[in-house]
Amino acid sequence: MKKLKRFRKKSAIFWLTLFLGTILFFQIFSGELERPAQELNYSELVQKIKTEDIRQVSIKGKYTTALDKKGVYYKAFIPYPEKLLEKLDNKNIEVKLLPVDADFTSKLPIFMPFITLLMILGLLYILGRSLSVTGSRAMGLGKSRAKIQSEKSINARFKDVAGIDEAKSELQTVVEFLKNPKKFEKLGGKIPKGVLLYGPPGNGKTLLARAIAGEAGVRFYTISGSDFVEMVVGVGAARVRDLFDQAKKHTPCIIFIDELDAIGRKRNMGMVSGGHEEREQTLNQLLVEMDGFESNKGIIIIAATNRVDVLDSALLRPGRFDRHVPVTPPDIFGRTKILEVHTRNMPLATDVKLEVIARGTPGFSGADLESLANEAALYAAQKNQKTITMKDFEYAKDKIIMGAEKQGRALSIEDRETVAYHEAGHAVLAYFTKGAHPIHKVTIIPRGQALGMVVQLPEKDEVLISKQKALANIIVAMGGRIAEEMFFGADRVTSGASNDIMQATNIAKKMVTEWALSDDQETAVFRNYIEDSDHHYGPQNAFSESVMERNDKRIENILKDSYKKAVSTIKKYKKELENLAKALLEFETLDLDEVTLLFEKGVFPTKESHKPS
Ligand code: ADP
Ligand code: MG
Ligand code: ZN
Repeated sequence: MKKLKRFRKKSAIFWLTLFLGTILFFQIFSGELERPAQELNYSELVQKIKTEDIRQVSIKGKYTTALDKKGVYYKAFIPYPEKLLEKLDNKNIEVKLLPVDADFTSKLPIFMPFITLLMILGLLYILGRSLSVTGSRAMGLGKSRAKIQSEKSINARFKDVAGIDEAKSELQTVVEFLKNPKKFEKLGGKIPKGVLLYGPPGNGKTLLARAIAGEAGVRFYTISGSDFVEMVVGVGAARVRDLFDQAKKHTPCIIFIDELDAIGRKRNMGMVSGGHEEREQTLNQLLVEMDGFESNKGIIIIAATNRVDVLDSALLRPGRFDRHVPVTPPDIFGRTKILEVHTRNMPLATDVKLEVIARGTPGFSGADLESLANEAALYAAQKNQKTITMKDFEYAKDKIIMGAEKQGRALSIEDRETVAYHEAGHAVLAYFTKGAHPIHKVTIIPRGQALGMVVQLPEKDEVLISKQKALANIIVAMGGRIAEEMFFGADRVTSGASNDIMQATNIAKKMVTEWALSDDQETAVFRNYIEDSDHHYGPQNAFSESVMERNDKRIENILKDSYKKAVSTIKKYKKELENLAKALLEFETLDLDEVTLLFEKGVFPTKESHKPS
């Protein structure tokens, strides 16, 4: 609506200018207008005529123009020029009597065809525009939902986004670029066309995109992928085109596509049904638009998704969304900072310690923490308190945990400790077992089903799996359960290791039945994959009972041997394990450098040295 109004005002001005311009043109062309003339009254003009200075007089209605011998024009208002005419008799003066209509309004009829033509054109233009707006809205359901929102000034700033400093610093260049695209253009610097923010919901992707626009002070065009669902074929694509057309007129700007996965899912080859077809058209249009302009032109496209894995690979290619920025769940420090942001304007009681709340809320997203603060404030208000106390926060936390019913969030202090020792167990084995993949980081921040994890990165892509590597993997998998048992006793071991045990068993099974890597290798050449008549390999019941029994024994031996090795390593590095568990309880995530310092030198991370993950 706003857009339309602005448009009408603009075009009205445009047509008016054109109209007046045309008239002016004809006026000048016909030489009637505005020769610089000196104003005289009747008697002055008569005087001039008497002194015979004047050589030409033109009378046109109530106005008389005179030209003297030096070429100067005079103009006088003489309503009844009859008397003047008498005075001109017998003088050597050229007298012109011009028809009264020789002024602007009387020439209107001549212009009429032009004016009519212009008006018709203008009308058609305006009509066409408003038709295309209302027309598409009338065409189908859900159309109006995919409205392009454009905001001129965004309030969000980087200071409102807490705990994801890495993402923020990565996007700083984008802000710089939007602030001054010319500078980058001159230097020929490579600016990403498309930035993809990804990560679990509620951790600030949308907020971050808005903050970029806010920091750069540019217009923000936004559209959400989910709006495109259930659209009539063709409409989604038209919206995308519209979005880019609008944005191109207002550079520098940001186009933000929220929930990109809703349109950007992998295209199904062959399988074409109604809904897919629409989505594919929309996706194709998006790809076309993204290819259709140069980067460095002042438009940055930011998209957000919870699921990178389902995105069509065409979207991720260079020149499209080729910059990927993870927006991860906050660690304990991030949570503290997010709580600071959202309690900025709340009267907190002196007993409130945000770090303590943060410690008790592993797995909470930024959005969870925001509602935690809100709930606490509401609860305090209900009880007519002047300030919000720690009790209110406790209450709010329980409410959110119960409401969310998500595993991991309800972690008790005791469970959190178990997770820390469990992961430290894996980490010690990953660190001290020859052949194990190097540690990338250790974390006790719950993510999905996992309560914590040791992230290991292979040094290089593995093509061949050596026996040593396979065994090391089994050993590392055993560390969690062993640590739990060693530090909390056999009664307190948890189901947390079930996945580890399954993993270890699977590797051992493959070693025996597929890779022939068990100790008595000459007898382990049985494979459970045999070639069938079509030269396909597939699982077959290729084993006799006795072979299977022997293989089971082999698998068991591998697991038992590995377990022994794992226990002895953990016993040897018990102190290291304990230190790591303690550090994890405080910092939640440690990277390889921190683990190395801790293991080799007994140096604990400090708040200053610890870099947020
Ligand atoms: P996403 O787009 O990743 O799902 P949002 O940006 O929509 O998450 O976050 C929802 C709300 O949660 C935000 O508006 C903000 O109030 C709060 N929030 C989320 N992450 C953060 C953060 N890192 N810092 C501050 N507030 C946050
Ligand atoms: Mg969002
Ligand atoms: Zn484990």
